[in-house]
Amino acid sequence: MINDKRNFAFAIFLITVFFNIASSKNLKCKFCKNEINGRYITQEKNAYHEKCYKDHIQLKCDHCKNIINGIYNLKDEKSYHQQCFINFVLDKCDVCYQPIEGEYIKDPWGNIYHNNHRSKMPSCESCNRLISKNTTDGGYRINGNRSVCNICRKNVIHDKNEIKNIYADLRNELKILGIINLPKTMSIKLIDTKEELYRISKIPSSNGLQGYTKYNYQTFGREKINENFTIFILSNLHEINFRAVLAHEMLHVYLFKNDISLRESLVEGFCNLGSKYVYDSNIENKISELKLKSMYKSNHPEYGKGFRIMDSELERYGWSKLLKKLESY
Ligand SMILES: [Zn+2]
Ligand SMILES: [Zn+2]
Ligand SMILES: [Zn+2]
Ligand SMILES: [Zn+2]
Ligand SMILES: [Zn+2]
Repeated sequence: MINDKRNFAFAIFLITVFFNIASSKNLKCKFCKNEINGRYITQEKNAYHEKCYKDHIQLKCDHCKNIINGIYNLKDEKSYHQQCFINFVLDKCDVCYQPIEGEYIKDPWGNIYHNNHRSKMPSCESCNRLISKNTTDGGYRINGNRSVCNICRKNVIHDKNEIKNIYADLRNELKILGIINLPKTMSIKLIDTKEELYRISKIPSSNGLQGYTKYNYQTFGREKINENFTIFILSNLHEINFRAVLAHEMLHVYLFKNDISLRESLVEGFCNLGSKYVYDSNIENKISELKLKSMYKSNHPEYGKGFRIMDSELERYGWSKLLKKLESY
C-alpha cells in the first residue's frame, strides 16, 4: 500500500565566472563601488574586485562552507556543491541507505523508501512496514504468501494459554458494554493461510478476511440444542490485530446466541464495532490507528459502508441503547 508519494523539487544552477584584467578606467566594483585596477572578476555582466567577489558575492556551500564553482544545487534558498547535496542534504532511503532523488514513498511509521523497493519486497501484514534488514530487522513468511516483520514478531499470537486469556479478558470487557451470554470458553483455532480460511468460510477471497465463526446446532422442536461455536483466526497476527478480529467474531457469537436477526447487510458492520472497540482501547499503538483508518476508508458494502452506518448509530445511542434496538435495523 502506497501511503505517501512525493516529488523532490530542487534546482540545479551553473555559475559562470570570468577573470579579467582592467584595461579601461572608470570600471567600478559592483559591491564596494570603488574603482577597479588590475585583475577583476565578472559575473552576469557585473565587475568585482577579486577580494570583494570572494568575500561577499561568491556562493558558498551551505554544508561544507567552501566556495562553489560551476554546478551547484539550490534548496530552500541555500546553495550546495552537487556532491555535498547528494551526500548530506538529500534524504536517505531507509531500506538501502542511498540518497533519494525524485519520487519516494513515506510509510505511516516515518520510513522513506525509493519507489522501486515496494514491488520487490514484502510488507508486514500487521503493520504494513516494508520488510527489510534496515527497516524491520527482517521478517518471516508463513506458508509462502503471508509476511510478518521482526518488529511485530515479538507480539504475534500463537500460544494457546494466551488465546484463552485474551478471550476471557474480552468477554469481560464486552459484558460491561452489554454484550452478554457469550460462552465462558470458546474453541479458537489458528489458521496459517488465507486460502484455508476461505475454504472453511466459503467466503470469496476478495475481502481481507482474517477470521470466521462456525456455528452448529441441532433443533429440538423449536429449541436450539447442542450449540457449537468455533472461531478461526489467522495465525501470526499482531496481538492488537488478533484481539480486534476476535472481538469481531465474538459479536457474531452474540448475535447467534441471542437470536438477534439484524438486517443481513449490517451484520458485518455491527461486528466490526467489536474491532473498533479494541482499536479504540489501544489507540496509542500505531497499528490501531492504521487499521481504524482503513475501516473508515473501506468501500466494502458491508465491512466498510455497513460499519460506518452502525458506527454512527453507536455514536448516537451508545452501546446499551444500540443493543436494545438492534432488531429494528
Ligand atoms: Zn570592491
Ligand atoms: Zn560543499
Ligand atoms: Zn532505497
Ligand atoms: Zn510488522
Ligand atoms: Zn464477520
